[in-house]
Amino acid sequence: MASTRELWGETFSKDEIPPYPCPLCNRGTLHCVPDSFRQKISRDVEEQLETQWIDPPDAVHQFNLFLQCGIAKCGAIVSVQGDSQLVERDNREFVEDRYFYRLAPQGMYPAPPLAAVPKDTPKLLKKEFETAFALFWIDLGACANRLRIIVEKILDHQRVPAARDLATRIASFKNSEPDHATMFDALRFVGNIGSHEGKASRDTVLDCFELLQEAIGELFDQRKSKLASMKQRIVNAKGRV
Ligand SMILES: [Zn+2]
Repeated sequence: MASTRELWGETFSKDEIPPYPCPLCNRGTLHCVPDSFRQKISRDVEEQLETQWIDPPDAVHQFNLFLQCGIAKCGAIVSVQGDSQLVERDNREFVEDRYFYRLAPQGMYPAPPLAAVPKDTPKLLKKEFETAFALFWIDLGACANRLRIIVEKILDHQRVPAARDLATRIASFKNSEPDHATMFDALRFVGNIGSHEGKASRDTVLDCFELLQEAIGELFDQRKSKLASMKQRIVNAKGRV
């Protein structure tokens, strides 16, 4: 999967929902199911609007909607929910277009994949990735911690012995697998970010997903590793000529 960085903003317009990748088939993109959008405001916000205590753009609504995979055979459904708020456009040419609803999702289920997980990835790790994808919308700090757990599980899978801390463990992995430099750097970066408690920035978490995608591609994408060994064989053969 190419970088999908532009998809994962904190908010989007109700009329321009990003084309998220499908969590089921990993090939299609998701589109809003027509007429599935609903939003409500709580009674106290309604009263504040009625008494003009607040202006309409200050009223926070709760919304939900459904997305569906564009590939007819798949048709996976994703439920999205969060806050919505009226926002004034910069371009005010037409009065009727002056405002739009900006949606801030607080959850998606099942959550679209933020990284391509090769089909030969162990089940346990796939599950951890799914949890990390879901946590991305709920709590970025918890998502970063989950990524750290994924690093631990990758090291378990590679039979890297337990160590007093993750840094030491990753260093011993580097010693035994010096060829996997990209993967080593990815794991170290993700390991570092996950170890700091509190809030993780959206960009940093997205960096982690991109790096982990590289790492698991190197490890579990059979097609990629076959290509790499074929390339190596060709290089070796030429070396002997
Ligand atoms: Zn699909």
